[in-house]
Amino acid sequence: METIRTNQPLRGTIRRSKAQGKSVVLVPTMGALHDGHRACIELGRKHGDVLVVSIFVNPTQFGPGEDFESYRVTLEDDFSLCRQLGCDIVFAPQVHDMYPEEHVLWVQPGDLAEPLCGATREGHFRGVCTVVRKLFDVVEPNVAVFGQKDAQQALVIREMVTQLGLNIDVVLCPVIREDDGLACSSRNRDLAPGERERAAGIYQGLLAGKQILAAGERDPREVCSAVRERLERDGAVEVEYIELLDTTELRPLVRARGKVILAVAGRVGRTRLIDNLVLRVDLDGGVVEDSLF
Ligand code: AMP
Repeated sequence: METIRTNQPLRGTIRRSKAQGKSVVLVPTMGALHDGHRACIELGRKHGDVLVVSIFVNPTQFGPGEDFESYRVTLEDDFSLCRQLGCDIVFAPQVHDMYPEEHVLWVQPGDLAEPLCGATREGHFRGVCTVVRKLFDVVEPNVAVFGQKDAQQALVIREMVTQLGLNIDVVLCPVIREDDGLACSSRNRDLAPGERERAAGIYQGLLAGKQILAAGERDPREVCSAVRERLERDGAVEVEYIELLDTTELRPLVRARGKVILAVAGRVGRTRLIDNLVLRVDLDGGVVEDSLF
């Protein structure tokens, strides 16, 4: 496995591989790798010849007062996991490799970036699109893997690929969870022991929403209030949003039908966590978990 820290050597290595007819897969990450990343990397391994994992804590997707400065960095552990998983290249650039000193040009996403995390994290998806576009430019992947844990991000990136006419297949990895259902996240390590237990309530809340859908409820307000009741039980989670939306445009629904996303964000202590379930509400009343696309 090669560890590459700057753009130019990476471009050279990629060009040589492509000249040999090899396909390239990119798994973008911010590091502090966990089982969710592991699943994305394992999925990526199956989709092409040269597997590139990028590790870059992208400053432009963090707002003022967010956790950019304290975001966990575990590069040596990350490198050894990547090696163990058969990665060919880890690309771990520094901020000045990715951004010029005076950075003025952005990739501005459309309406998909407005609800959910876009409503509370101003400029977040603009930062995500800009950095992913830059990574795509350096790595020139045929396939890029994203996790359904960040469902809105996956939709925004897929739209960027379509809008810019990029020849890249976006492949989705299902949400990977810890034993009690908490979605794996680099931020889980910031939870104190009591907080860690409370955080499991997020998944329980999503399951409560799924359960009342399965019992026949179709009013999104009722579904979301069942989720809220569970999340806020004993003050476990300070809710930022709970929404039931369609999975193509992320618009609010009048009634739940077809493919829907039940998405939540909230804080446990100071740690902000997000999670979602993509559900298919069948005509016969059945409710099953599904993939975003
Ligand atoms: P991050 O390092 O948090 O920016 O995540 C890098 C990639 O891993 C993104 O595509 C995430 O959606 C994906 N990812 C993070 N956590 C999970 C998880 N629990 N399950 C599946 N994919 C995940």
